[in-house]
Amino acid sequence: MISIIEEKKLIEQFESIVGAEYMLTHDEEAKHKYAHDETEDYVFMPDVVLKPANTEEVSQILKICNAHHIPVTPRGGGTGLSGGALPVKKGVVISMERFNKILNIDELNLQACVEPGVITEIFQEAVKEKGLFYPPDPSSRGTCFLGGNLGENAGGPKAVKYGVTRDYVLNLEVVLPTGEIIHTGANVLKNSTGYNLTQLMIGSEGTLGIITKIYFKLRPYPRKDVILCASFRSSEEACEAISKIYMAGVTPSGMEFVDRDSIEKTKKYLAEVLHTPVNMEIGEEVQAQLIIELDGNDEEVLMKEAETIVEVLDNYGSGEVLFADSKQQKDELWKLRRNVSPAVNSYSLTKSEDVVVPRGNLPALVTDIKEIGKEYGFNSVCYGHAGDGNLHINIMKENISDEDWNGKVNEGIGKIFQRVVELGGTLSGEHGIGIAKRPYMSMAVSEVNLNLMRGIKKVFDPNGILNPDKIF
Ligand SMILES: Cc1cc2nc3c(=O)[nH]c(=O)nc-3n(C[C@H](O)[C@H](O)[C@H](O)COP(=O)(O)OP(=O)(O)OC[C@H]3O[C@@H](n4cnc5c(N)ncnc54)[C@H](O)[C@@H]3O)c2cc1C
Repeated sequence: MISIIEEKKLIEQFESIVGAEYMLTHDEEAKHKYAHDETEDYVFMPDVVLKPANTEEVSQILKICNAHHIPVTPRGGGTGLSGGALPVKKGVVISMERFNKILNIDELNLQACVEPGVITEIFQEAVKEKGLFYPPDPSSRGTCFLGGNLGENAGGPKAVKYGVTRDYVLNLEVVLPTGEIIHTGANVLKNSTGYNLTQLMIGSEGTLGIITKIYFKLRPYPRKDVILCASFRSSEEACEAISKIYMAGVTPSGMEFVDRDSIEKTKKYLAEVLHTPVNMEIGEEVQAQLIIELDGNDEEVLMKEAETIVEVLDNYGSGEVLFADSKQQKDELWKLRRNVSPAVNSYSLTKSEDVVVPRGNLPALVTDIKEIGKEYGFNSVCYGHAGDGNLHINIMKENISDEDWNGKVNEGIGKIFQRVVELGGTLSGEHGIGIAKRPYMSMAVSEVNLNLMRGIKKVFDPNGILNPDKIF
């Protein structure tokens, strides 16, 4: 590999493609923004940051980098929690921030065509104005990009009823590491025409190609919703109740779990840091809560489903079930849930895990996580999209020494992953592998499967330039 910053000719070529204004080379302070994401305290400085404006520019950059074997890391909003957008081998970061246009919302076909640098919430709101619904809803929606969501196959609370990002993508425009531009599929609802390259690209964490255009399918926006908040005397009871609600025949559009520590830290953060306190008391005996959302178009049906849920919860002697009556109460509950991750991170450096198990095994998992924490000397908060078995575990550094943080705690994480796999689960439900979970990949994925993945990578990226050292 050559040190590209010293290569005057290369830098001139990059400048002639994107323009001096959209290139960072020697400004270390400006480049620092592109050296980290939201994963722990990782920092990897790129040599150069390029901000292309269109597909042709991306293609030209990749052709040059491929010819010179220069590592390239695609970057979206930089909110990733597994280090996917970090230039671990230096080289070029391609920031997709100028790909920020919604190109078309097709109300006739319930489809949309967008650039990958559009912020998720802006897209959600734009389609909502037309009565349409884009359900993937990561808590980072105010800052993450749709391209990054595809990179990680993002989920969020509504995945439990509506599925994840991959369920809404019909077709992609992609620039391959060699610089060739392809479309992966067609803008149709059914497609049995060869291998599904669209789905292969989603969740590939920017290792197979750079997405430059996305064709989404959409749904009609549900007109009504009901939100309940149920309290429990233990995390295990809360997790057990989740399966019982499904067994009673109800499919909520959100089923979020928060343990007591998450709630307390988030309330404090909202009051003291964001100065927007939420008006929610929790009893001393409460150890966990479920935030349950039902949506649809018929209020009567939703109220019947809510009654069924309350009947299920009666069996747990879990205390009161609150109905969020007003929009303000609903917004407060979601605000609380969306801010758990920033709240815990403002309290302590964390390692953030994103495991997923069949939902019936969640009670066993939450017990084991606390036991493993005791054994390896760390505290953790647990919360997440528990309706689909997806639990976020934020392990807090607090007063743990750097040596233990990088040694003993990592061993404990390995033990959690081992338990997750024994319970029929896997390492990541929506945050991806990146660099943070890479050392554990072989616990969940066999060598045969890993070799298939390595083979696919080689076909797409013969010189191994695109987002090297990620996933496996
Ligand atoms: C507070 C907080 C809450 C979060 N909540 C959720 C949640 O509820 N659900 C969830 O799923 N995630 C959540 N996340 C994680 C994160 O927001 C998601 O992984 C998100 O999808 C990342 O998007 P991004 O634009 O920030 O991508 P980045 O972090 O910039 O990149 C992510 C990956 O995508 C690749 N990539 C980016 N753009 C492209 C492109 N155009 N073509 C090819 N590859 C590309 C990158 O190389 C990288 O591997 C949360 C994060 C935070 C900080």
